[in-house]
Amino acid sequence: MMVDKRIHELQESLRGRLFCPDDEGYDNVRKVFNGMIDKRPDLIVRCAGLADVIAAVNFAREANLLVAVRGGGHGVTGNAVCDGGLVIDLSAMKSVHVDPANQTARAEGGATWGDFDHETQAFGMATTGGIVPTTGIAGLTLGGGIGYLNRKYGLSCDNLRSADVVTAGGQLLKASASENEDLFWALRGGGGNFGVVTSFEFQIHPVRSVLAGEIIYPLDRAKAVLRFFRDWSIAVPDEVRADATLISGPNGPVLDIKVCYCGTIEEGEKVLQPLRSLCPPIIDTVAPVPYKTVQNFLTAVFQPGLLHYWKAGFVREFSDDAIEAIVDFFAGAVPKPFAAIAIEHLGGAISRVGPHDTAFNHRDAQHSLLVLRMWQDPAESEDNIDWARRCYRTAEPFLENSAYVNYLGDEGEAKVRAAYGDNYARLVAIKNKYDPTNFFRLNQNIEPVPEFHGSARQT
Ligand SMILES: Cc1cc2nc3c(=O)[nH]c(=O)nc-3n(C[C@H](O)[C@H](O)[C@H](O)COP(=O)(O)OP(=O)(O)OC[C@H]3O[C@@H](n4cnc5c(N)ncnc54)[C@H](O)[C@@H]3O)c2cc1C
Repeated sequence: MMVDKRIHELQESLRGRLFCPDDEGYDNVRKVFNGMIDKRPDLIVRCAGLADVIAAVNFAREANLLVAVRGGGHGVTGNAVCDGGLVIDLSAMKSVHVDPANQTARAEGGATWGDFDHETQAFGMATTGGIVPTTGIAGLTLGGGIGYLNRKYGLSCDNLRSADVVTAGGQLLKASASENEDLFWALRGGGGNFGVVTSFEFQIHPVRSVLAGEIIYPLDRAKAVLRFFRDWSIAVPDEVRADATLISGPNGPVLDIKVCYCGTIEEGEKVLQPLRSLCPPIIDTVAPVPYKTVQNFLTAVFQPGLLHYWKAGFVREFSDDAIEAIVDFFAGAVPKPFAAIAIEHLGGAISRVGPHDTAFNHRDAQHSLLVLRMWQDPAESEDNIDWARRCYRTAEPFLENSAYVNYLGDEGEAKVRAAYGDNYARLVAIKNKYDPTNFFRLNQNIEPVPEFHGSARQT
């Protein structure tokens, strides 16, 4: 059969491996981080390098196949895989080359933050990256990228210096401040809409020991602590990131504040002291630790394969009323583990980049609120999703009507438009130029509009 012959030719052309549904290992390679996702692609190309990516793009385009692109596979919506179609799987492309003299690191598109930190920390260097080591550098950076260093060094995408991109036409382009600048602008927040990024070059910074840990307060102190946290977190120096999370975990419901201070330990002790002496905590583990330890705080919690449902928004009004509403909802009927309402700490260097300088535009936000539900038994899915939705509805009056695309579920075009605000028109113009047929559409999709006359250059 013609199709079999073409598939055979594709396999022959690869240095990596092609998986079809009957192949041994297929069920393993189609799995992604979120256990809610159970998709069955017709073909999975586990690429060994750039040539395989180009071959997979050309094959899918010529055969008119739906295409998914997989980096670290952490996207909660499961867009890294598809039913039918072809997955361009970069998870075997993990190399990271560090250039300590120039303070840069180049990583392949399938590397995770665990891979990246491992290599850069050997030289006492780091850049802003995800706080769970199994998250991919690709999806995270392309959507923006928040992490413990974000207030000192900006988002992951703010540290991107250049990227190698395979377009829908199978062409390799470099995107940087001096080459294909429009594409470079779009890649810094616009997600996987514009091509397959095979390699990312980042600025890295000296980061060795940090002052970090968690301060856990009983739930009945949560309102008072959050009121203090709100004012304190806005006033602290950029070296601090502190996330306040209401957690229903194995040890019961608590307010957990995770902090990371990336300046000198002596200065950090002074800066964190007011938070640590606010009221007697259940536990305070804050101590000088290697940065890599901080990046592993959550490794045991976020085991692959658990079922996830997330909803999130940027905080518009962190008022006493907001704190009352959120804590009352959480404490009113504490959900079974694992449930969390995380208030993540932004501002600092993030807000010193203009909203039109990159596709990521939420530069004024000081906090993001993430409702995270995670469970094991599929029979509990309906109840858990319902809890997360009710929780989000409680918080919604205090949130911006926009979203961080990396936390966004399958919420439709209006939400994607809202996420990009007045950067959306420019993104459509760039999509028209680089992907006019919407070949890359399994993502928070920016639909091309062929008759659209907007400018791909910044206006
Ligand atoms: C446990 C957990 C922790 C997280 N922590 C953080 C955090 O600390 N900070 C933060 O900002 N976000 C965080 N996130 C959200 C995360 O940024 C997104 O889930 C992101 O999409 C993950 O990227 P990935 O490459 O692992 O995912 P994938 O599922 O592989 O990819 C997601 C999408 O990105 C695109 N994509 C992936 N690779 C490429 C590529 N090489 N080229 C082009 N497009 C590509 C595709 O559109 C794909 O559908 C976390 C998510 C999870 C599940």
